[in-house]
Amino acid sequence: MKPVHTSLKKWLQNNQNFQQNLQKIKRDVLSDPAIKKLIKDHPQLTREVIEKNLNTLYEFKTQSKQCSTCHSLDKCSNMLKGYTPVLNVEGEKIHLSYMKCQKMLVAEKQKEQQKLIQSLYMPKEILEATYDDIEFESGRSQAIREMSYFIDKIPEGLPKKGLYFTGPFGVGKTYLLGALANKLKEYGLSSMLIYMPEFVREIRDSFKDDSVNQKVNFFKKADILMLDDIGAETQSAWFRDEILGSILQYRMMERLPVFFTSNYTLVQLEEQLAKTTRGDVNNVKAGRIVERIKQVSIEVPITGKNRRDI
Ligand code: ADP
Ligand code: MG
Repeated sequence: MKPVHTSLKKWLQNNQNFQQNLQKIKRDVLSDPAIKKLIKDHPQLTREVIEKNLNTLYEFKTQSKQCSTCHSLDKCSNMLKGYTPVLNVEGEKIHLSYMKCQKMLVAEKQKEQQKLIQSLYMPKEILEATYDDIEFESGRSQAIREMSYFIDKIPEGLPKKGLYFTGPFGVGKTYLLGALANKLKEYGLSSMLIYMPEFVREIRDSFKDDSVNQKVNFFKKADILMLDDIGAETQSAWFRDEILGSILQYRMMERLPVFFTSNYTLVQLEEQLAKTTRGDVNNVKAGRIVERIKQVSIEVPITGKNRRDI
């Protein structure tokens, strides 16, 4: 057994350490600028009240409040990731609560915005394209100019015409649409981006579950509809007239813009649309579709190198 005086000495020593620690904690807490201000603003917070709430104040002090200057949400050091502590005084009671930090709010907004791009069968690189990263090239200068006109007009109301990008394979037509769709998110506008050959398949497959009308309605009513690679698919007369035709008709009447990409100019597309899977040629019906395309978009040529060869 240890002699009593040794144990007592140790206890006194520990207790003294404890006291010193407590004093240090108090000093730290009271030197925190936010806590200092709180005490100044609430004269009822006497020394005694502060002592009673020391735990709360200490927790507040140890949590990072510099959320706006932190580098990323992943590196957040707070107990509740993405939350910043807030103190509230009610009489002589100090309450600590947590609010979402700036980074968390931005991340949530981005997540919400991501939902605004409904895309079907689009490669990741297109979905991640950003407007600010578009490289300037003379062959796409008109396209960039028209996109920026479109964006500039949004505050006055959604422009009724989108763009019809025509140009050879690989010049970046789809990429520009992806970048635009991402930019439009910032305005709270949702884009429906779909690859035409898949669109035809999607509609055909929807017969099985009777969801054709529901899907067609979705395309009719999307804020922004983007049809990628029109003309690349062979379609039936029914798809051309009843599906594509009715979607374009609706959007034309409702003044809702449509964006397109195509390897064909509108003149060439008309020839293309005249032919159907059954081998018929119907110039009148194709002409009607192209007429509607002109009502909902402006034709813009894009030239340049084939970026897929690089
Ligand atoms: P298109 O639709 O005209 O056939 P894409 O848009 O698919 O061409 O572009 C071809 C390739 O070049 C894609 O891999 C795309 O990601 C890339 N690309 C196109 N434009 C850019 C750009 N401005 N910056 C970076 N990569 C681009
Ligand atoms: Mg493309």
